[in-house]
Amino acid sequence: MSASHNSVRMNDDALHALAAEIKACTACPLHRSARQAVPGDGSGESGIFFLGEAPGYNEDVQGRPFVGAAGQLLDELLQGIGLDRSKVFITNVVRHRPPENRDPMPDEVAACDVWLRRHLEILQPRVIVTLGRHAMYKFFPNESISRIHGKVRRTAETGGLTVLPMYHPAAALHQPALRSALVADMAALALYLQAAPAKAAPEEKPAVQTTLFSD
Ligand code: URA
Repeated sequence: MSASHNSVRMNDDALHALAAEIKACTACPLHRSARQAVPGDGSGESGIFFLGEAPGYNEDVQGRPFVGAAGQLLDELLQGIGLDRSKVFITNVVRHRPPENRDPMPDEVAACDVWLRRHLEILQPRVIVTLGRHAMYKFFPNESISRIHGKVRRTAETGGLTVLPMYHPAAALHQPALRSALVADMAALALYLQAAPAKAAPEEKPAVQTTLFSD
């Protein structure tokens, strides 16, 4: 078996083990009202890591992220740049559904930080695409999404990680005018992937700088 097959297998094993830990998480009150945790799914194959807001009703029922209407739009947008969903990894800022789909609270987001850091350590993505303002705030707490969407950034603020903020697909479902912005932002992602060096082999990967996270 080749070295790259081995590293994909190791990543898969680590992702499974991490998902089991997330499913058992009781660090914030959301686990009490949610049906189950939604750890995230997909693969690190393309090096693209999508970070959404929180599971909604469909995600809570199925235990997978972005399986409702917003997920369908995300799938279409990915197909538009020739990417299959199975090649990207998708997770959320909080892993349990907030009651009535309310916004996640700061302490819930903070309690879930550890899982984001662990996913990033395993996957070492080329680029993190934040969907919506809650995911954007993880890296740019003082920014406005209308100002920075579609722009790839790698700064001290992002702890050396490459981050591309986008609007949330659900926002485009409510405000159709945002759909063309999302299409343009996906095109920016495709351009970045063409221009940036391919994902480093596991032994060449720089360590994820973890100072971004507060725990
Ligand atoms: N919206 C999100 O932010 N995440 C999901 O998993 C589904 C909808």
